[in-house]
Amino acid sequence: MPAPDLETIANLSKKRGFVFPASEIYGGLRSSWDYGPLGAELLRNIREAWWKAMVLDRSDIVGLDSSILQSRQVWVASGHEESFTDPLVECSNCNSRHRFDKLEDVDQCPNCGERGTLGEPRAFHLMLKTFLGPVEDDAAVTYLRPETAQGIFINYENVRRTARLRLPFGIAQIGKAFRNEITPGQFVFRTREFEQMEMEFFCRAEDADEWHRFWLEARMQWYLDLGMHPDRLRLRPHDPDELAHYAAATSDVEYEFPWGWDELEGIANRTDFDLRAHSEASGEDLRYYDQEADERFYPYVIEPAAGVTRSAFAFLIDAYEEEEVRGETRVVLKLHPRLAPVKVAVLPLSKKDELVEVTEEVAALLRPHWPIEVDVTQSIGRRYRRQDEIGTPYCVTIDFDTLDDRAVTVRDRDTMEQDRVAIDGVAPHLADKFAATL
Ligand code: ATP
Repeated sequence: MPAPDLETIANLSKKRGFVFPASEIYGGLRSSWDYGPLGAELLRNIREAWWKAMVLDRSDIVGLDSSILQSRQVWVASGHEESFTDPLVECSNCNSRHRFDKLEDVDQCPNCGERGTLGEPRAFHLMLKTFLGPVEDDAAVTYLRPETAQGIFINYENVRRTARLRLPFGIAQIGKAFRNEITPGQFVFRTREFEQMEMEFFCRAEDADEWHRFWLEARMQWYLDLGMHPDRLRLRPHDPDELAHYAAATSDVEYEFPWGWDELEGIANRTDFDLRAHSEASGEDLRYYDQEADERFYPYVIEPAAGVTRSAFAFLIDAYEEEEVRGETRVVLKLHPRLAPVKVAVLPLSKKDELVEVTEEVAALLRPHWPIEVDVTQSIGRRYRRQDEIGTPYCVTIDFDTLDDRAVTVRDRDTMEQDRVAIDGVAPHLADKFAATL
């Protein structure tokens, strides 16, 4: 089935509690979104999958959680204060503002359609400025971080020393980042507040190309392992004129969004730009000392930079399917079980006391192992429909036979097949099923 359109995903997200417009009761804030109970779980599962692949499963990468607020000097040295800008053009006919580098036709306003009304592009600064302390003067200025990466570079020596790391090694971080985007939009694709998952992999300059290739492949594989359609994923190398000022080479992992191919993650060879810049600006020697060769040098850095919130959006789109079942349309989110917010739903066939009692017993057996949802309201058909729409891999149904045979029905989201399983065996049965999907 082709990818669903944006409205379909936004509506489902709102209806089921994945994503709500921020400040909705005050009319909303186009550039921000709030994640509801299911969205919060989805984000958590994405973070965990990334952290496991990047940190826990590897012996050469460690984690970090640095501040959003840092000294202004960080952003001066990194080049952000000077040049973290996007080219902005304004239409003299409708006054709408656009990113020049994202225009399909540089001569036509994408809002009103007029030709020749877009002015000259000017550099628009993307960092969100704030003041620290009670006095709003120049000395108090800093910025909300526009990327998590700089927190890693300025802690490079702290981490290397305390974790006793030797090249090659990586430092990974997940956290919020902020950019005053000219054109936020396409649901949660581009927002002014978002979350990143970045890893800086430090290596010798002569090994950088090989590590770059390694991380391109590893990062593609991460999305595939979490069930993304291979035909909707690709790697796109940047043209030389697209490269950031610090990068020797960059490739993006792109996903085929409803509006076309767009970036999910950027994987850059940042050279030794950042460590060198922070050394020169701070006076701290951030070179690596190789004891055996008795030499000091700035390591090169390969950076896979992904988005938590943008990935969540892509996973939702990718999982969405509509199927014809007995003349009706079934909407199902075929989320990978590791990403599904609710792993098992426990559903009594009716609200009768004796069934609800057994339901609680079954729920108590499952709750220590997985996030579960117990739902006793509405018809069983509607409850299955809700669980399909939120991507719950298994439903466990308690019916009147359960009272006699002490067995329940386990329904598989994707095949809709049902197995009869003894209550005592239901947790191991599900554990086997989940293990098979890892
Ligand atoms: P673009 O050119 O589209 O503005 P970028 O190339 O500057 O993006 P990076 O700096 O490479 O983006 O950021 C790394 C990742 O962080 C992106 O691939 C994306 O997943 C995420 N990201 C960046 N900006 C945003 C945003 N405004 N909203 C949501 N996610 C974002």
